Amino acid sequence: MDTMLAAEPLLEVQACRKAYRTDTATELLVLDRVDLRITPGEIVGLLGRSGSGKSTLLRVVAGLLSPSGGEVRWRGAPLVGPAEGIAMVFQSFALFPWLTVRENVELGLEAQGLPPAERAERTESAIDLIGLGGYEGAYPKELSGGMRQRVGLARALVVHPDLLLMDEPFSALDVLTAETLRTDLIDLWSEKRLPVKSMLMVTHNIEEAVLMCDRILVFSANPGRIATELKVPFPHPRNRLDKPFRQMVDDIYAVMTRRAQPTGRHVATPAPAFGMALHPVSTNLLAGLMETLAQPPYDGRADLPALATALQLEADELLPLGEALALLRLAEVEEGDIRLTDAGRRFAAADTDTRKAMFAAALKAHVPLAAAIRQVLEERWNHRASAERFRDELEDHMSPEYAHDTLHTVISWGRYAELYAYDEEADQFSLEEPA
Ligand code: ADP
Ligand code: MG
Repeated sequence: MDTMLAAEPLLEVQACRKAYRTDTATELLVLDRVDLRITPGEIVGLLGRSGSGKSTLLRVVAGLLSPSGGEVRWRGAPLVGPAEGIAMVFQSFALFPWLTVRENVELGLEAQGLPPAERAERTESAIDLIGLGGYEGAYPKELSGGMRQRVGLARALVVHPDLLLMDEPFSALDVLTAETLRTDLIDLWSEKRLPVKSMLMVTHNIEEAVLMCDRILVFSANPGRIATELKVPFPHPRNRLDKPFRQMVDDIYAVMTRRAQPTGRHVATPAPAFGMALHPVSTNLLAGLMETLAQPPYDGRADLPALATALQLEADELLPLGEALALLRLAEVEEGDIRLTDAGRRFAAADTDTRKAMFAAALKAHVPLAAAIRQVLEERWNHRASAERFRDELEDHMSPEYAHDTLHTVISWGRYAELYAYDEEADQFSLEEPA
C-alpha cells in the first residue's frame, strides 16, 4: 500500500454544526463540533442511538444538506452540493416499479453522460458483482426485500464512487438476509472487487459495526457529537463468537450507556418539555424485561450484552427498552449494566392493577408529554383533546417521523396506564375509560 497516498484524506469534516429551524423561534441543535476524516481504504462506522444525528451527518457529507457551521472538504476542496464520487445507499430503496432491475441500476449512471455501450457494460458488471445475475429483466415487485436492497447497492456501485455512504442499509431486512448481505459485501471488499475506495456506514447495531468496520465512531446525542473513536483490529472475515469480538461489543455497550459527565464538559441543553423523542417500546416488553430481571440468575441486575444474548435480542432492540425503563426510573442503565430500581422490583412483583397505577405515576412524573395530555384533559370541560395539537407541538422539536413515533408511544403507554384513552378515528384523546 502506498502510505503517502493513504494518508491523504478523501473527506474532511471540521467543527461541523447543524441546527434545524423549527416553526417556533427555537432551533434544534442536532450536530455540534463534529470532526471526521476518511482516508482511502477504510470502512468507517457511525454508531449511535436513533435521533442522535447520524442521518443528518450523512446527508451533510453527501452534500444534500448544508451545515450551519464548520467545513466539509471533499478531495481537498470545499463541498458544495451533491459531489461527484459520492454515492449513497438508504435503509430501503425507492425502486421504480415500472423499470426492470437493469433499468433501475442503470439509472445511477444517468447524470454521467457515458456512451450507451459503456453504460450497459457497467450496469451488467454491477449486477453480476452484487449477485443479481439472472434477474436483469425482473421487476421490483418480483424480488424479495433482500434482492431489492441489492438493486439499491448496485445502483450506488455502478457509478464507481470513491466514497460509498450507507444509512442503516440492513436494518429493514430480516436477520438472515441482513447477515448474508453484510458478509457478501465484506467478502467483495476484502477481495478488492468493490469499485469504491472507502465506505462510511451509519448503524445503530453494535455487532454490525464491529463485524464490518475498521474504525467506529460512537455518537452521543443532544447534540450529536463523536463521543469515542475505536479501531477494530480484527482481520476479515470476523467471527461474532470470538472472545475479542465479544469484548469489543461489551466495551461499546459500556460507552453507549455511560452517563453524561456530571460536571465540567457536559453542555447543558435546553430540555423543552416535549423535546424528548420516545422510541416505540411496548409495555408488554417492558413488563417482561422487569420480570426477567427480578428473577434469578439476575436478581435485579444484568450485564446488557449477556442479557441481550440470553433474550435473543439485538443491541438496538434492548437499548431502547433499557432507556425507557431508565426514563421511568424503573431501572438504571450504566456502564453496560442494567439494574432494577426499588420501584422496578415492586413493579415486577405487583398485580396488574398496581402495575398500571405505578406506570401512570411514572408517566406523570417523568414523561412531560404524557403529563401534559392528562392535564389538558382534566382541564377541558368535555375531557377531550385533539391529538393534532400535540403532534404539531412535537414537530417543533423533532422530525415528523420521530414526532409520529413519540406520539404513538405516548398513546400506547398512556392507554396501558389508563391515564387517558385515545380514539384513532377521531384522532382524539379523552379521559373516558376505553370501551
Ligand atoms: P438518526 O439518524 O441518528 O436517527 P437524525 O439525523 O435523523 O438522527 O435526526 C436527529 C434529530 O434531528 C432528531 O431529533 C430528529 O427529530 C431531528 N430532525 C431530523 N430531520 C429534521 C428536520 N428536517 N427538521 C427538524 N428536525 C429534524
Ligand atoms: Mg437515521
